[in-house]
Amino acid sequence: MPHVLVLVDHDGDRVNKSTYELLAAARRLGDPAAVVVGTPGTAARLGRSLARHGATSVHAAESTEAAEFLVTPAVDALELAVRETSPAAVLVSATTDGREAAARLAARLDAGLLIDAVDLDSSGVVTQIVFGGSYTVRSQATHGIPVITVRPGAFEPEEHPGEAVERTLTLPGVDPGTSARITARRAAPAGDRPGLTEATVVVSGGRGVGGTDGFKVVEELADALGGAVGASRAAVDAGYYPHQFQVGQTGKSVSAQLYIALGISGAIQHLAGMQTSKTIVAVNKDPEAPILDLADYSVVGDLFEVAPQLTQEVAARRT
Ligand code: FAD
Repeated sequence: MPHVLVLVDHDGDRVNKSTYELLAAARRLGDPAAVVVGTPGTAARLGRSLARHGATSVHAAESTEAAEFLVTPAVDALELAVRETSPAAVLVSATTDGREAAARLAARLDAGLLIDAVDLDSSGVVTQIVFGGSYTVRSQATHGIPVITVRPGAFEPEEHPGEAVERTLTLPGVDPGTSARITARRAAPAGDRPGLTEATVVVSGGRGVGGTDGFKVVEELADALGGAVGASRAAVDAGYYPHQFQVGQTGKSVSAQLYIALGISGAIQHLAGMQTSKTIVAVNKDPEAPILDLADYSVVGDLFEVAPQLTQEVAARRT
């Protein structure tokens, strides 16, 4: 059975849900082999939950400086693992860091890079959303070991009780000439809302929300549904909501079970980041807004009337 390397996304103590999705995707091609990059002891903390989600081996690439640099330690670790184990493919989450790590790895290996996969079959054919969501294509790397970035939310995590074999990768020292050292980290958003790319429900607000105060309506609906809050670029550029919550071509990509767009017109660059969501609901006061053509459920109306009613209804059904 061939094996497939999976780069583990984690915060040091907890594996991010997108990694469990990668492990499920990897099983279509072979035995998932998790690569954990972190400070000493990280792989031991995460090993059990990786094994429970299908990893048959866990490669620990640990060093005290691994958490001090952006992506380079991950690229070093994946390159080592590829050269030592000749996998059938390498899977990485299509997050900001994941995309950069995958591109650097593919360049180092002179390998094919397939980005933004939303599906994957056992012969290695990948379904991708390309050109800002204008086309869905099926592609296969014909050169080298394919490096594939997978859109968070595209696969369902699976539980596969079992043991994982532990292996050690000895990381080379980080080259400061080609590596960016992290000097500060953005504080995690307050509260216990799920992360945007982790959430099964995302409620996003656009320019139609009208301001920072207007976003309270978006947050209240997201909280009632246990979801994350997103924003269009117009809302972010206007200062209504922080940039880290932007959804779209130049923001985050989400494939939520439920995506609710409030006061968003549906520009192609926004759709690029959310149109693979399973169910899309749009509230817009303009019946001609393009997002209404994409949505599974459209409400033509004022979001300040519709969203609070939705929040109330959801809250009432919960009690
Ligand atoms: P608008 O287009 O202004 O739409 C606001 C909508 O709100 C309208 O449809 C209006 O009818 C509705 N509305 C107003 N008031 C109400 C109300 N009270 N109730 C209900 N509806 C109401 N955009 C992104 O989102 N993400 C990206 O990553 C992104 N990347 C880009 C990259 C490039 C290179 C470029 C050129 C653009 C990018 N954009 C991106 C911008 C994109 O083209 C649009 O400008 C942006 O998505 C528009 O945001 P919006 O829908 O919130 O605003």
